[in-house]
Amino acid sequence: MPIPSPQRDFAEKVVRQLRDAGHESLWAGGCVRDELLGRMPKDYDVATSARPEQVRELFGHRRTLAIGAAFGVISILGGKDEHGQRLDPIEVATFRSDGAYIDGRHPTDVTFTTAEEDAQRRDFTMNGLFFDPLNEKLIDYVGGEQDLRAGILRAIGDPAARFREDKLRMLRAVRFATTFGFTIDVSTLAAIQSMAAAVEVVSAERIGTELRKVLQHPNRSEGMLLLHETGLMQPLLPSLTEKANQLEPAWFDLLDQLNTIESDSLPVAFAALFSGCDDLQSVRDQGRRFRFTNKEIERTAWLIEKLPSIGEAAKVPWPRLQRVLVHEGAGELLALAMATWGADHAGVQLSRERLAWPVEKLNPQPLISGDDLVARGLRPGKYFGELLDHVRDKQLERQINDQQQAFDLVDQWLKDHPVE
Ligand code: ATP
Ligand code: MG
Repeated sequence: MPIPSPQRDFAEKVVRQLRDAGHESLWAGGCVRDELLGRMPKDYDVATSARPEQVRELFGHRRTLAIGAAFGVISILGGKDEHGQRLDPIEVATFRSDGAYIDGRHPTDVTFTTAEEDAQRRDFTMNGLFFDPLNEKLIDYVGGEQDLRAGILRAIGDPAARFREDKLRMLRAVRFATTFGFTIDVSTLAAIQSMAAAVEVVSAERIGTELRKVLQHPNRSEGMLLLHETGLMQPLLPSLTEKANQLEPAWFDLLDQLNTIESDSLPVAFAALFSGCDDLQSVRDQGRRFRFTNKEIERTAWLIEKLPSIGEAAKVPWPRLQRVLVHEGAGELLALAMATWGADHAGVQLSRERLAWPVEKLNPQPLISGDDLVARGLRPGKYFGELLDHVRDKQLERQINDQQQAFDLVDQWLKDHPVE
């Protein structure tokens, strides 16, 4: 049974309006696949025999956008649903076949054609299905339904030719197989293996987008195995090839364990990939190469760097652990630590208990600030940081409890550390 939604109703209306005007029109691709699997589609795409200019004519220029018109794609703008939420636009694409591919990514031109030929240009059988929502009829020119039911990811047509045309499809294969838990058909797999190195022609953004989807999915460990089996690991994540080659159990275990914490944090997954790596700069470089955000990259590096302090939480001085636990990334760090050592680990347990402390206990207001030091006549300088840290440590260790004691400590510290 399909899952009803305002977006689905809108997509049905678009098909009806095209049909009423005498054009063939069907839902196409991902939305048909998702509905067959009982999933809620992210978006609905419509394919039609109407030419782009006819689509614009029919829906009116004010309700349409022609950004993708060169490929025959017109976006129909949605109204608002009953909650006042604006509906997403529906992309209406004229049935087309792609011309010759030039750069291993893009066709030189497109020709408008029939639904059957349009199915042939799509990447995988599971993505090549059409559905007629008005008659509730599946239209399958590529054997997609059977593959979908069997959980097989298979290229449409000659796999080698299809990957030669567009190298991004190799990565899409791994992404779809990972996120749907599908098996890659043998000849499709063999074709990827034979040209995996050529994935380098794909833009960094597109590689990053696909990799992100694999990493954020609970099946990520399967995804890494697939990258390894297809030969895509070497060109994409060369520093991990060795771990994958050895099928290092601890590494795959860790990736599997990440599911138990139900986190879709990219930094947590990326840090798990590189856990134990002490070359943070190389991790940062790889994150940058995939166009992950600065925040994600810095968070990843922080997680890798701080993970050992959770491992030794029972042994490290509280002020040091406290500074880690009050960090914005503490929740992610704990998730990574739980995946690494399990929930019963002493350091994990201690950190969890502490994180549950009320904030005034976990992160009490500092007793004094730099301004207080200046007010007491001290000349600001680099030593301020060290001095305030020292006072803060003693406060967290509960050796001092009020401002007077803090200032006494300042006086003592200044005696021990004469400032020029
Ligand atoms: P998702 O749920 O991730 O959006 P999707 O199947 O909808 O999955 P899109 O990238 O939105 O994927 O593409 C929509 C459809 O266009 C696909 O289902 C497929 O039929 C076709 N398609 C997309 N990219 C390619 C490609 N590189 N080569 C061939 N066909 C493609
Ligand atoms: Mg889609």
